[in-house]
Amino acid sequence: MILMGESSLICNMAKQASRDREIDYSQIGRPQYREQTPADLQELLQAYLRSYQSIRYFRFRDPIAIREWQFKKIRHLVTHAFAKVPLYREKYAAAGLHPGDLRTWRDFELLPFVTKDELIAAWPNAIIAQGYTTEFTTRSSGSSGKFVTVAVDKQAVITDTLMGCRQIEAQSGGTVSSSDSSLLIYTCPWWFTSIGGLYPTIFISSGHQVEDAAAAVRALRPAVLSLYPSYLQRLAPQLQDIQRVGGKLVIVHSEQSTRTDREELSAVLRVLVLDEYSSEELTRIALECPKRRYHLEEDSCYLEIIDHQTGLSSKPGDVGEVVGTNLLNMATPLIRYKQGDLSSFPTHQEPCSCGSSFRQLSGIEGRVADCLVTPSGKLIPSGSLMDAAYRWFLDLSIPVHGIQYEIVQIKSGKVHVNLVSPYLRDSEQRESIRSTIQQQLQEIFNNECDIDVGYVDSIPARAGKHRPIRRE
Ligand SMILES: [Zn+2]
Repeated sequence: MILMGESSLICNMAKQASRDREIDYSQIGRPQYREQTPADLQELLQAYLRSYQSIRYFRFRDPIAIREWQFKKIRHLVTHAFAKVPLYREKYAAAGLHPGDLRTWRDFELLPFVTKDELIAAWPNAIIAQGYTTEFTTRSSGSSGKFVTVAVDKQAVITDTLMGCRQIEAQSGGTVSSSDSSLLIYTCPWWFTSIGGLYPTIFISSGHQVEDAAAAVRALRPAVLSLYPSYLQRLAPQLQDIQRVGGKLVIVHSEQSTRTDREELSAVLRVLVLDEYSSEELTRIALECPKRRYHLEEDSCYLEIIDHQTGLSSKPGDVGEVVGTNLLNMATPLIRYKQGDLSSFPTHQEPCSCGSSFRQLSGIEGRVADCLVTPSGKLIPSGSLMDAAYRWFLDLSIPVHGIQYEIVQIKSGKVHVNLVSPYLRDSEQRESIRSTIQQQLQEIFNNECDIDVGYVDSIPARAGKHRPIRRE
C-alpha cells in the first residue's frame, strides 16, 4: 500500500526541482509541462470508465479485425492530414496523391515517408493541424543535434495514459493491479499522476543520485519501476531487495538495451526487467512481454519495416528501417514516419503463450545512423555487433577488467576493430583471440569486408558522444 501523502510530497519535490533546474527539457521530453486541471482529471476518469475495457482486451482480438480497424483509423488520419496540415497537403499533392485514392494497404504503401528533418523544418505552422494548439507538446532529439517538436492533442494523451495501464498489466503478466503504484525515473513527469487515484504514478528526476532513487524505492514501495537502462545498471546493485519492498516489474526504455543486459538485471533484482520500445513521436511502438517477445502496440502505432535501398516492405527476417504511423495523435499527424531505428519481423509469426495477438518484432537492432553497411548494401545493425562483442568476453576468456573496444567502418569494404585489454598479455592468446574475432566478423559481414583487429593502449579520444560502433 502506498502512502499518498509521502508520494505526493516526493512528486511535488520533483515538480519543484523541475522548475528549478533538474529537468533538462532541451534534451528530451515535454517542453511545455502543463499542470493537470480538475477538468482534465474528470475527462481522464470518464475515458477510463468508458473505454478502458475495450483498450485492455484489444490485444486479444482477431488479427484480421485489428488490421481492418487500423486501416479505418489510417484512412481517417490521412484525410485529416491532407485537409488540415500543410506539410502533408504539399507532399501528397507533389506526389499526385489524393486521400480519396487510399482504398487498400497497397495505396497506403505509396504514400511518401516523412523524416525528422522535414518535421523540424515544418514546425510549427506547416505541421500543426488547423484547429489544434501547442497546449501539449513533446520533443526528442533529431539528427545532427537538432530537436524535433510535435504537438499532441489531449485525447491522444488520455488514450496514451490508458494504454500505459494496459502496458503494466500485460508486461507484469497480470500481477500488477490498479491499486499498485509505479515510480517513473525520467527527465520529465507524465502528464497525469493517477486516474482518479487508480494506477498512481510517482515521478523523480533521473538527475538524482542513485542512492536517493534507491531510498525513494524503499520508502514508496512501487510495484513498477520505469527508467533508462543505463540508470538501472547503476541502481540495480542497491536494489537487490526490490521484491521485498513490493517490486514486481521493471520497465526500461528510451535507450537501447540488449536482451542479455535485461536478463542479467532480472537475475540481480529477481523481478522481470522488460523493454519498452517507444519514442516521443510514435508513442509506444512495441513492448517485451513476460515471454520475452516484442509485441507491437497495434492500436497506438502502425509499424512497417522498410528495405533501405528499395523503400518497399522488407521480407520477414530481413533487417530494415522502422517506419511508423501514430494512430493516436491528430495535432501533429505522423504518417509513415522514419523513426531512425532498425528492426525486423520474424520469419514466422508464431503464436505467443502470453496470449497477445499483436504482431511480433524480432528485436530492436539499434539506430540506422549507427549501422554498418557491406559493399553490396546489407545492413549490419550496431545491436548485432554489440551482441557479438559481448560474446567475445564470454567465450574467449578475455580478462574483463579494463576492456574496451570499437568497431569502425573506415570505408566501404574495410572495418577496423580496436581492442583495449590491458590484462591480456600472453602473445599466443592475443593472436588466437585476434583471429577468432576476425573470422567471426568476416561471417557477419558476409565475407565482403576486410577486417583488421588490433590491440591499442586506449581508444583514441574523439569530439562528441562516444560511439563504439560507427561508420566514418
Ligand atoms: Zn507474448
